[in-house]
Amino acid sequence: MAYKTIYPYNNKVLKEYDNASDADLEAALKTGHQLYLQWRQEEPQTRSVLLQKIAAAMKDKREQLAEAMTYDMGKLLVEAQGEVDLCIWIMQYYAEHGAELLQPVPLTTKLKHGYYLKQATGVLVAVEPWNFPLYQVVRVLAPNMMVGNPMILKSASICPTSVQMFADLVQSAGAPAGALTNLFISYDQVAKAIADPRVAGVCVTGSERAGASVAATAGQNLKKSTLELGGNDAFLILEDAKWSQLEQVVPQARLYNAGQVCTSSKRFIVPASMYDQFLEMLKTAFSQVKMGDPMAKTTTLAPLSSQSAKTKLQQQVATAVAGGAKVYYGNEPVDLPGQFFAPTILTDIQPDNPIFDQELFGPVASVYRVNNEAEAIALANNSSYGLGGTVFSSDVEHAAQVAAKVETGMSFINDGWSSTPDMPFGGVKNSGYGRELSALGLEAFVNQHLVLKP
Ligand code: NAP
Repeated sequence: MAYKTIYPYNNKVLKEYDNASDADLEAALKTGHQLYLQWRQEEPQTRSVLLQKIAAAMKDKREQLAEAMTYDMGKLLVEAQGEVDLCIWIMQYYAEHGAELLQPVPLTTKLKHGYYLKQATGVLVAVEPWNFPLYQVVRVLAPNMMVGNPMILKSASICPTSVQMFADLVQSAGAPAGALTNLFISYDQVAKAIADPRVAGVCVTGSERAGASVAATAGQNLKKSTLELGGNDAFLILEDAKWSQLEQVVPQARLYNAGQVCTSSKRFIVPASMYDQFLEMLKTAFSQVKMGDPMAKTTTLAPLSSQSAKTKLQQQVATAVAGGAKVYYGNEPVDLPGQFFAPTILTDIQPDNPIFDQELFGPVASVYRVNNEAEAIALANNSSYGLGGTVFSSDVEHAAQVAAKVETGMSFINDGWSSTPDMPFGGVKNSGYGRELSALGLEAFVNQHLVLKP
């Protein structure tokens, strides 16, 4: 059984699930397609009510959903509670604004008048990761439910309990059969679903490996795909950055969710004049974290999501060091049974270091020293990723100009990464293509259907 909840705090196997059969997949495709045909006949407004009901049900079950996520992948309970709150907000945002954003768009062309409709396209397959078991799902479910695209979900195999709890909640809140079908399926079954004529597209959040494989299947079958993949986000500090603000923002920008966020700040690019002071500040912050029970309010750093996540990160840090990087702080074993990884600071990473262009998915900060702004921008852009990034300066307008020079999908001025329902989320280069959330995410799988009148 591939789908299991293993609590990363104590490595106990809490629950195991049988894989779905091909007959389960066929049933999901059938009910999903029937629902698509039904939803096509209905106005999006009718589904706003459903999204509100799901939001209300999530409020009622906030604690159970949050706990289930913590058991699945180890995140701090307080962060899991925040994740549920964000999901509720996304549901409400699309419930309130979705119908209006889906109104036909009038067109006056040189030839004639008309409009384009924003119509549903069919059943979608969603392939989602474990780092935000519910938020990643809601990011695609809420807009597509408004549009009228039913969804078959393949979650990460390590977070089945929270995802199934959410799928059950959606159904008990009144969603028709097929609106969201969570299936414990294999990669082959994902490919089979994508190839099915009833499926209109696939959205993937995960690694480049997953994205490339699923997108290849989508391409072979002429299906649309969106890819939200990894990141190696740069945090550019300009000479006039305010220390007091930096001290507030930097630790969480790296350590939130135990550093397992696609948009975590991973590469800190620091002017030479501030380099030593920055390292000291980061070391002080990292040395103050408290690892332990993720359910406890006093814990500030959770374990990593799984043994394999920890092993991979350990290997990457060892590779970095073998390639010439220096450990400024951390990389010590943690005397706890769970999958804990001590916050670590790496310096002296040269472009020929094998990990220079790799995502370190955990509490490891890479710190770079630069001599001027041009060097900082060039270093930020020397990456195959382009998801998010931060620029810090007391001159906000100048910081915004610097941000525009960074090849990335999202830039945050004087702040770490953030995500709200009304901000588009997504990247460029190997971080993927397409956008989720906001009006852009709503249109990811919409048929912009032109109607021209005489
Ligand atoms: P992953 O190993 O790629 O898994 C992501 C999902 O893809 C899981 O459901 C996985 O299933 C599935 N999968 C993998 N290969 C597949 C294939 N060939 N066919 C079908 N499904 C496949 O990634 P992860 O370790 O869960 O997530 C961490 C990665 O996600 C990081 O790189 C992170 O930066 C990225 N991420 C990106 C965003 C964004 O918005 N850009 C947000 C969050 C995370 P199994 O679990 O069964 O293997």
